[in-house]
Amino acid sequence: MSDYRLGDDIDDFCVRCKRIMNHSVVSVVNNEPAKVRCRTCHSDHDYRHEQAPPPKVDLRKQALFAEVLKKVSPDDPPPTTPAPTPAPAAPAPKPKSKGKARK
Ligand SMILES: [Zn+2]
Repeated sequence: MSDYRLGDDIDDFCVRCKRIMNHSVVSVVNNEPAKVRCRTCHSDHDYRHEQAPPPKVDLRKQALFAEVLKKVSPDDPPPTTPAPTPAPAAPAPKPKSKGKARK
């Protein structure tokens, strides 16, 4: 039976719900559902034949990110340093000697 009609119940993968959900056929092309609408989140999308789409996140990027996270140990301070305090131009004063301070 390949007779799909608008409004028919159909199972498909919903990208928003991230799982196979109940959908309604909203568009039929050549007796094939072209577009469906999730009955749970009401988002329209192309019929995916119940296939989950490939993940959009770049796996390599994710791996890199994980690596960076591993390298950063919690003991290390964040790389952002506050503005360096300007060193005084004058030479370091001699330490005051106790007891022989002049009056
Ligand atoms: Zn959904």
